[in-house]
Amino acid sequence: MAEVAALNGTAAEVASTPKKRSPGGKFAIPDGWIARGFMFEVAWPDDPEAASRVRSHFGGRRFAYNWALGQVKADMDAKKVDPSHTSVPWNLYALRKRFNAEKTTVAPWWGENSKEAYSTGIADLCVALKNWSDSKSGKRKGRKVGFPKLRSRRKDQARVRFTTGVMRVEPDRRTITLPVVGALRSMENTRRLERLVHSGKARVLNATLKERWGRLFVSFSCLVEDHPRPGPTKDGRAGVDLGLRVLATIADSNGDITEVENPAPLRATLVERRRVGRSQIRRIPGSRGHDAAKAKLASLDRRCVSLRKQASHQLTTMLVDTYSEVVIEDLDLAAMKKSMGRRAFRRSVSDAALGQIRPQLTYKMAWRGTTLTVADRWFSSSKIHHACGCRLIEPKKLAKQLVCVLTGELVDRDANAAKNLRDWPDIASCSSVGAAAPKPSSPTGSGGGLGSDVGPSGTGGGSVRPSQSRKAASGEARTRKGTPRRGVA
Ligand SMILES: [Zn+2]
Repeated sequence: MAEVAALNGTAAEVASTPKKRSPGGKFAIPDGWIARGFMFEVAWPDDPEAASRVRSHFGGRRFAYNWALGQVKADMDAKKVDPSHTSVPWNLYALRKRFNAEKTTVAPWWGENSKEAYSTGIADLCVALKNWSDSKSGKRKGRKVGFPKLRSRRKDQARVRFTTGVMRVEPDRRTITLPVVGALRSMENTRRLERLVHSGKARVLNATLKERWGRLFVSFSCLVEDHPRPGPTKDGRAGVDLGLRVLATIADSNGDITEVENPAPLRATLVERRRVGRSQIRRIPGSRGHDAAKAKLASLDRRCVSLRKQASHQLTTMLVDTYSEVVIEDLDLAAMKKSMGRRAFRRSVSDAALGQIRPQLTYKMAWRGTTLTVADRWFSSSKIHHACGCRLIEPKKLAKQLVCVLTGELVDRDANAAKNLRDWPDIASCSSVGAAAPKPSSPTGSGGGLGSDVGPSGTGGGSVRPSQSRKAASGEARTRKGTPRRGVA
C-alpha cells in the first residue's frame, strides 16, 4: 500500500507519532490511538468542469481495474499455452509498475486524473483476486468468491481513494479539499473531525470519494487519540437475543428484561416503494417522470439504510454504556438470508441489520476494554428452558410463546433466549436434555450454514446435512440446538 504519510494535523506531536508496521508490513495503529472513520456528504460541484473531474476519477479507477484484469487474464492464457511464461505478480506494486510503463499508450489521458485513481482500481483488483484465490483454496470461509469480472459503467462502484496529497477539512468547517479534485462543499458541518485535527488529536490516513444514490460522499480514515472512557453503568453480564420481531431482547444479571424495537424501515416503506417502482416502469427512460421516480426510489433506499444504521448504533452504544460483558449468539446471517423459502422472512433478516451489530459491538467494546462473548453457534438458546432446563416445545414454527414440557407453562421465546445467553456457557453444560456443550473449537466457520435443526422440519434429521453447508441452511433468527453430527433428537 502506498505511504500513509500525508499529515493533516499541524501539531508536531501528531507528525511525530511513530509509524509502526506490523510484521506483515501492514500499517499498525500506534498505542494510545484508535482508527476511526468519518463520513461527510458533499455537494456535487456547481462548476461543470469540476464535476466532470470527479466523474473522470471514477472512470479512471474503473479503467485501471479493467486494464489490470485484462493483463492478469492474458497472463493466465499465455501460461496455459507456454508454462514458462512469466506473469506479472498479483500485487499492487507490480501491476502499478506495469501500468505506469504502459499508460502513455493505453491511457494517453492519464494525466487528467490523480494517480490515486488508477492505484485504487489496481488495489481493488488485487483484493478481488486474493479473495478469489483464498476462496478457491479454502483459506477464505463463507460464500464462494468468483473470479473478478470486467466492470461496466453501470455496475461499477464509483469511488476513488486518496492516500497521499492534500486531504483536508478546512478551518471553515464546510470545505473539504482533496488532491486534483479540489475543494468540495460539505453538506454538514465538519466540526467533529476538524476540531480533532486542529488540536492534533486526529490524523487523516486516507480519504475516499464515492458516489451513492447519485450523491457524493467523502469518508476519512483517521487515527484518533484515544481518551479514557467512563465505565459501564451496570457492572454485570447481559445476554442479548437478536431477532426480527424485536431487534434485541436483553437479559441482565438483575433479571431485568429489556426489549429494543426493530424499526424495520424496509417493511415500512415497502408499499410506497412498490408504488414508485410501478410508476417508474410505466414511464419512458430519460423522461422527467422517470427520473423523478428513480430519485424517489433512491431516497427511500437511503432512508432505509440510515434508519438501520441508526438503530444498530443506538443499540450497541447503549449496550456498551451499560454492561461490562455482553453475550450474543453466533448468527449465520448469510445462510439466514439465503435459506427458507419465505421471501418475506429473508427480507426481514436484511431489514433488521443484524449483521452490523456484532462488528459494532466488537470495536466499541474494545475501545472500552469490556468483554464481548459470542456463544457457540450450536447453542440452542431459544430451545432450552431457562427455568428448568427442559427442551421447550414449539407449538408452531417461529412461535412467540413456547411450551414447557414439564409444567406446561408458556415461555416467551426471546426473553428465555436472552436469559440463556446471559448464563452461557453454564446453562449449556448443565442442561439435562442433550444441549451440546459449547466447544470453542467447533466447526462454526467451515460449517457455514448449518445452524440446522430448523424448526419442526429438523426433527426428522433429514434437513441436517453438516457436509453441505450451503444447502442445509439455518433459517432462523436464533442459533439453534447443535449436535450437528448426531442429527436432532
Ligand atoms: Zn421447562
